Amino acid sequence: MFLDQPVSTLKGIGEKTSALLEKAGINTVRDFFYHLPRDYQNYASPTQISEIKPGPVVIKGKIDQLTTRRTRRRNFTITEGIIRDSSGAIRVIWFNQSYRTKQFDPQKEYYFTGTYELSYGRYQLTSPSALLATDLAKDQTIQPIYPARGPLKSSDFKRLIANSRSKFSAIPDLLPGVPPHLRQNALYDLHFPSHPDHIKTARTYLAYEELFALILSAKLNQIANQKLRAPKIPFQADQIRRFLRELPFKLTNAQRLATWEILQDLARPTLMNRLLQGDVGSGKTLVSALSAFATALAHKQSVLLAPTAILATQHYENLRPLFENFGLKVALLTSATKQKPALKSAIKAGHIDIIIGTHALLTDDTEFSDLALVIIDEQHRFGVKQRQNLLLKSPPGSAPHLLTMTATPIPRSLQLTIFGDLDISLLNELPKGRQAIKTKILPEINLKTDLYPKMQEILAQNQQIYWVCPAIEDQSKTTTASVKTRAEKLTKAFPGQTVAYLHGRMKPAEKDQIMADFVQQKIHILVSTTVIEVGIDVKNATLMVIENAESFGLSALHQLRGRVGRGSNASFCFLLTPEDHTPSRRLKALEKSTDGFHLAEVDLKLRGPGEIYGALQHGALNLKIASFSDTKLIKQTATAVDLFLQNPKNMLKYKELMQSIKKYQQLTTLN
Ligand code: ADP
Ligand code: MG
Repeated sequence: MFLDQPVSTLKGIGEKTSALLEKAGINTVRDFFYHLPRDYQNYASPTQISEIKPGPVVIKGKIDQLTTRRTRRRNFTITEGIIRDSSGAIRVIWFNQSYRTKQFDPQKEYYFTGTYELSYGRYQLTSPSALLATDLAKDQTIQPIYPARGPLKSSDFKRLIANSRSKFSAIPDLLPGVPPHLRQNALYDLHFPSHPDHIKTARTYLAYEELFALILSAKLNQIANQKLRAPKIPFQADQIRRFLRELPFKLTNAQRLATWEILQDLARPTLMNRLLQGDVGSGKTLVSALSAFATALAHKQSVLLAPTAILATQHYENLRPLFENFGLKVALLTSATKQKPALKSAIKAGHIDIIIGTHALLTDDTEFSDLALVIIDEQHRFGVKQRQNLLLKSPPGSAPHLLTMTATPIPRSLQLTIFGDLDISLLNELPKGRQAIKTKILPEINLKTDLYPKMQEILAQNQQIYWVCPAIEDQSKTTTASVKTRAEKLTKAFPGQTVAYLHGRMKPAEKDQIMADFVQQKIHILVSTTVIEVGIDVKNATLMVIENAESFGLSALHQLRGRVGRGSNASFCFLLTPEDHTPSRRLKALEKSTDGFHLAEVDLKLRGPGEIYGALQHGALNLKIASFSDTKLIKQTATAVDLFLQNPKNMLKYKELMQSIKKYQQLTTLN
């Protein structure tokens, strides 16, 4: 097809240019036409100089008094002049562009596009681009600005695309149910816009196109998953009740409902793909344990996967006694596990019912005898690849049931697109007796006056404190150092208390020991990096201090804070900020709310989904045109996709569309 041709087949694109384009990932004619302007310059209504305000501007005027001078720094020139229109004059300046002196005819009018700003104490137009007014055709008053690629500038793309102007009519339609030529018109309007409204319409169409492919791919995966056989696990209500009687507390209603939903799913021969969504502290672990219990009763294996060894160990220690009560075998498998080969052969032989571990579990040589249930705690911490790895560990044509757990809710828009096939259980209540965590933003300078007394108070009540040190990316050494220094300072400030520190570079056994000591209250203040971010559950810890809180994302902060407030005591969280610093919206949102669902929405608005859902980091989720906040368009598109799927012939007919969904298919598999 025409769009699949190499970009070099287009007029005006020679070997050299096509090599540069290919380097930028623009290989085909399609890639080239879809390299869309990132913005537009509207020359239709330039600003009058008398009306000019600081910021980006377009003005139309004549230029004079241009001079270039050298500065004292070698090889550095400044070109200055005056631009006038009928309403006034402003100063213009270019750096190291001495050719500008000769560029202009003082009798002629030009468009100048640049930033009007304060520089060295006066306002001026800095380094504007210039365009001879008569060079701008009437229908081209809106000029596209393309994202540069390597040495290819916006103007290069503009020129190259203009050479292919006549080719747009050869672009075939892509989607069913839209007016003919809509696609070629949309692309044409984006590259050669004649009216701002046309740009808007064209972008809406392309957003639709993009979403259509994404949603279609998710739905096709869903259909494929429904065909997989899954092990049937009978719902043994009596046994479940016996298990519950052993617990020191009653399930919350939400836990009861979620457990029931999961056990129903497991009893069916179709694959369960369920997300257990519940705010920090809502008791997800227990619900997952019940499903592992049911699976073990059916003589099948379960895996519980946690993102860190500390968390896996905690799960293991909490759950093992519960399971062993019923004669079930539980094992812990992390990178610190000794005698791995022996354990792995026991797993393979089916001697272990429930395997709790980290991604160390996911290596190729881990084999199962009869894996029926995979539970993934804190699912957004895992990559799609890792999850797929696990699912590949069952025979072809079948797969284990999948239960994922998260405290970071999946927004509606993502549910409708990539997470289309996910069933969701919600833990929308916390166990009885929990108090809201009191959160306070505190400038670090007030540490000794405002925070230390609170710490004294907490310690006096024999309660414990977490102190999290800043995340310094790619400088783990520095972070390690800051953890140590902070621990030393606190040791001095709180004599008689045991202060210890924890960071990711310590040996697993060492980390486990410190966590164990903290659980047993041998340690009173634990200074740590974010290794304690997820899951850790110590009810007696009631104060969380987060140093340099601005360096964390909202969901990480919420997770960190969720380490306290897990028992019935009042809990507190202090977010430390530098002095003279206006707290970000993130921190303010956190101070105001302890509702993870609300915070997740704020986070989505502030950051976008790509950053929140770790699994989708690869940028594939960074939609080019569509936006995940456009729920209305997403809903419309989902309906259109359903319609499309009703007619199986469509898949043969719309070949290009089916081809285009490939890049999404990996992403939406088994989410
Ligand atoms: P999360 O949902 O954050 O993973 P956990 O599963 O770690 O929460 O549970 C938090 C704490 O609440 C644990 O100590 C757990 O034992 C306790 N818990 C769970 N369910 C209940 C309940 N129904 N009543 C009281 N405490 C509970
Ligand atoms: Mg948890």
